[in-house]
Amino acid sequence: MKNIIIIGSGIGGLMAGNLLAQKGHKVTIFEAHSMPGGYTAGFYRKGYYFESGTLSFEASASVFKAMKDISVFEKIDFTKLRIRFILEECDGIPENYDDYKKIIYAGFPADKEKLDAFFSELDKIAGLMGNMDEPMPFLYNGLDMLKAMLPYMLRAPKMMKLSKQYSDMTSSEFAAKYFAKDSKLFKLFSGFGYPDMPAIFVGTAIAGVLADYWTVKGGMQSWADILAENFGKLGGDLKRNAYVDQIITKNGTAVGISCRNTMYDADYVIAAGDYKKTLLQLLDDKHLIPQTLQDNIGRAAVSEGFCTVYLGLNMSNEELGKYMKVPHVFPLDAKPGYDIYNAADGDFFHKTAVSLYSPSMINPKHAPEGKSSLMLQTMVPYHWMNNWGGGDKEVYRQLKETAMDAMIEDASRLIPGLKECIDYKDAATPLTYERFTHNTDGASSAWSWNPKKKFYEKIMSVNIETPVKNLYIGSCWAMQIGGVPGALAAAYQCSKKIN
Ligand SMILES: Cc1cc2nc3c(=O)[nH]c(=O)nc-3n(C[C@H](O)[C@H](O)[C@H](O)COP(=O)(O)OP(=O)(O)OC[C@H]3O[C@@H](n4cnc5c(N)ncnc54)[C@H](O)[C@@H]3O)c2cc1C
Repeated sequence: MKNIIIIGSGIGGLMAGNLLAQKGHKVTIFEAHSMPGGYTAGFYRKGYYFESGTLSFEASASVFKAMKDISVFEKIDFTKLRIRFILEECDGIPENYDDYKKIIYAGFPADKEKLDAFFSELDKIAGLMGNMDEPMPFLYNGLDMLKAMLPYMLRAPKMMKLSKQYSDMTSSEFAAKYFAKDSKLFKLFSGFGYPDMPAIFVGTAIAGVLADYWTVKGGMQSWADILAENFGKLGGDLKRNAYVDQIITKNGTAVGISCRNTMYDADYVIAAGDYKKTLLQLLDDKHLIPQTLQDNIGRAAVSEGFCTVYLGLNMSNEELGKYMKVPHVFPLDAKPGYDIYNAADGDFFHKTAVSLYSPSMINPKHAPEGKSSLMLQTMVPYHWMNNWGGGDKEVYRQLKETAMDAMIEDASRLIPGLKECIDYKDAATPLTYERFTHNTDGASSAWSWNPKKKFYEKIMSVNIETPVKNLYIGSCWAMQIGGVPGALAAAYQCSKKIN
């Protein structure tokens, strides 16, 4: 039996904790926050429930396998989501990729030829990379892992060809091959998912969010709570309000951590939170990290952060449903001048298009009787307005207020009278996300998705090793593009390493 310390109780830390405790190890999770979950968490305000980070996940085959492996699948009420896409030209709730194409074609009849050329390429990517309804091979051991790799190996020749063509091409470069840069269709396809993500992900992202897009009816917090409870039943110890301020090493090996002036010994330490802070701040001896690696880590770009507005509404779910139609709506018409790279644009929030998500339309228990809850979200330029006021609290408050008002104004295009129905409102900025999860700059999904700014050589590899012996990465930061699958893959790799 090994003595293992895990720093962080996001989905990665909780999953690693469950797997290792199930193997009979002594596992302690230290969580800085009062609640487990990290980005898969939620909170109540005035009787309204809101998701704090992610609203959803894809790659359900992997997620469901993971939950079955630790016998909690039946306890979690996973529910499939459908998305409504709105543009000035079209408005629809596609069931799948083909449906989505029909909606786009109907909205842009004059661009049929360009769309034909674009989709002839995108279809290949979506067909090959999408519909991967098998769990990731990382989630298996030995022979089962080889079996799980078979479908990927069979697709390998075609995949390699597409990969060569499109892995290092950004979504903007891909869209620019078919559409004029100031056109609606360019903006639509270059802006899908993360800015300038690899072209190869455009097809998978569209196919993924249409066919394999899930949430938890009880809210993400209920999922984290179930994982935490199961971890406890397996003998694990979850310490809350327990910020780890140092990883202690001896002769180049991790031997414990320090938390609230107390040292805790360990045979292994799994850092299941932010990568940059783990290696550049928490480690007691920076000399263990070669200077070039320290420089790379410091420089490496992270994924974009979000601004989220949380609204409790004096409006019934039925009425909200009349405008929304489904709980998740993506109005895609950003206004002229929208630029996710322009951190100095004080008008950014008046130009962006916000997405709308109603937790109470997923589950009426998420709002008081006769009321509803709504979340508005948009991605934000890095360090917007001198990183939200350069540390000045009053400027920060004003910028947050400006952002919140502009996002509510934008959502009022879909929900008339929205402002008059507000019973509760607050917002989270990337700074809020960083404060609650310790992710650098509120990075929403590990490193940058831009293939020109890669930290790891291979975008889909899982990298749990560090230069420090017995210190592993158990969070989504082990994979370039992070996400729930990245966090799960890291957890499994950590569990395989420790026998
Ligand atoms: C708005 C938004 C939308 C998203 N949409 C999707 C999506 O559709 N699909 C998808 O797959 N992913 C999505 N993601 C990303 C996904 O939520 C994350 O990648 C994933 O949940 C990260 O899990 P994790 O366990 O790696 O880390 P986190 O959830 O970041 O958890 C890390 C935990 O470690 C704790 N911690 C950190 N440092 C310390 C310390 N020193 N001491 C103690 N505790 C510490 C933190 O408090 C936190 O609880 C989204 C994220 C956001 C914000």
